[in-house]
Amino acid sequence: MDDTFFTVASQKNPRITVRVVAGHFATNSAHRSHYIDIFDLMASASVARDAARELAVPYRTSTLVDAIVYMDNTEILAAFLADELLQAGMSVMNEGSEILLLTPMVSSDGHFIFHQTVQEKIKNKNVVLMVASFSTGATADRMLECLSYYGCNLVGISAVFSVYSELDGREIHSLFDCADIPDYHFYQPSECKMCKEGIKIDAIISSEGYTKF
Ligand SMILES: [Zn+2]
Repeated sequence: MDDTFFTVASQKNPRITVRVVAGHFATNSAHRSHYIDIFDLMASASVARDAARELAVPYRTSTLVDAIVYMDNTEILAAFLADELLQAGMSVMNEGSEILLLTPMVSSDGHFIFHQTVQEKIKNKNVVLMVASFSTGATADRMLECLSYYGCNLVGISAVFSVYSELDGREIHSLFDCADIPDYHFYQPSECKMCKEGIKIDAIISSEGYTKF
C-alpha cells in the first residue's frame, strides 16, 4: 500500500469530493479494498453546505424531521442538513420548526445507547440517521435496533458513502456509491478474497482514520 490517494467527485455536484486510497483494509466487521477519506468534505464549510443541500433533497418537501441522529463524526454535515431543512421555501416541511442533533453513546458491551434526557426527546419522533459510510450491515443493524428500541420513527437514512441503495426496504440517500469508486469490494472477514489470496492487511479503519500495521 503506497498511500496514493485519488479524488472522486460526486455526480450530484462536482464540488463535493472525497479522497480514496486502495489497499487491504479491515474493520471489526468487514474487509475493504479502499479507504474513503471524508475529511475534505467536512473541513470546508462551503463544501459541507453543498453536500448537505444534496442530502436534503429527498426530505425537503416531503418529510417532517424532528431529529438527526449522526454517527462517525458527521456532526457538521448533520448541522448543515438541519439548517437546509429549516430554510424557508416553496412546499418545505420543516420551515420554522426545530431539529435536534443527537449522537448515541456506545455501552461497554458495544450497544448504541442514548442518555436518559435524550431518550425522552426522541421517543415517537421522526428521525433521520446520518452516517459517514455504510459498507456492512453490522453497524447499521445495531443502529436501527437502537432507534427502534428507543421508539424513534425512522424517516430516512443519509450517508456520505453507501454500498447499498436500501436497507430493510428503506432507501439510503448517499452522495457516493460503489459506482463512483472503480473496483470497490468489501467482504465479510471470513470470506475476504484478498485474505484468501494471501494479501496482508495494510491497515485497520476506525472512525478517526486508518492505522497501518
Ligand atoms: Zn481481508
